[in-house]
Amino acid sequence: MTKTAGHCSKCDKPVFKIRNQPGRTYVGLPAADALCVSLLMLDGSTADVTVCEACLSEVFGAVPEFWREVILPAFAEEGSNPDFWSFMSENPPLGVLYVRPWREVGADALIWKY
Ligand SMILES: [Zn+2]
Repeated sequence: MTKTAGHCSKCDKPVFKIRNQPGRTYVGLPAADALCVSLLMLDGSTADVTVCEACLSEVFGAVPEFWREVILPAFAEEGSNPDFWSFMSENPPLGVLYVRPWREVGADALIWKY
């Protein structure tokens, strides 16, 4: 499955406003059901992934599978450099640290606002 910027990583539903321009995608404000799931990684760092409210329980119950089947292939598709991909595959998530609505994550500072 292809992961699309601004969409739920699980079901691909759009959860952010998206504006496409040639050569660039702007991710805008989040919908109310856009959730930021912070994963605790093996090395102690965290990684944030976006899922919609409807997909949360499914992702919560299968974090390693979600990481392996959805997130890692997305990095590969995006053409991330091999060192980064290798680091990510050797640094799997241990579990969910916390879940917050994207609207409460200081979205103003994180994303392109329009
Ligand atoms: Zn979803």
